[in-house]
Amino acid sequence: MGMATHKYIGGCHCGNIALEMEITGKPDSYNPRACDCDFCRKHAASYVSDPHGKLVILVKNEANLGKYRQGSEIASCLICKICGVLVGVCYEEHGHLYATVNSKAIGNGADFGEETIVSPKTLNDQEKIQRWKNVWFADVGIKWIGAHER
Ligand SMILES: [Zn+2]
Repeated sequence: MGMATHKYIGGCHCGNIALEMEITGKPDSYNPRACDCDFCRKHAASYVSDPHGKLVILVKNEANLGKYRQGSEIASCLICKICGVLVGVCYEEHGHLYATVNSKAIGNGADFGEETIVSPKTLNDQEKIQRWKNVWFADVGIKWIGAHER
């Protein structure tokens, strides 16, 4: 099909976690979703994802990849334990990883659309999972790029 993709790089502040993101639509057609839960508001996080896109999460030191579970505790918020940046959120089911990226962790001037406020806390667990499968990246890889190969 030869679909044009837009590639972005990003990550945490100290470089322990990097992101490589490909989205299939025009960047300004993506409205980062500012989640109104207490946790996301403390980070001023807003999320970008593309179910037809691609995401690779590159981690240098796995011990410093924090996976914080809050709210319904079915997804993991990915936080660098060194610099404290929230890079995204992931959900794993049967070994398959879904994830969304904090637009604030995309560092090369991505000109997304206006932020929109969302309230996933109003959804029950099944509704949340279904929503993540609909809108998050479904093609997600984690690469361990630290000194210790695994
Ligand atoms: Zn960091």
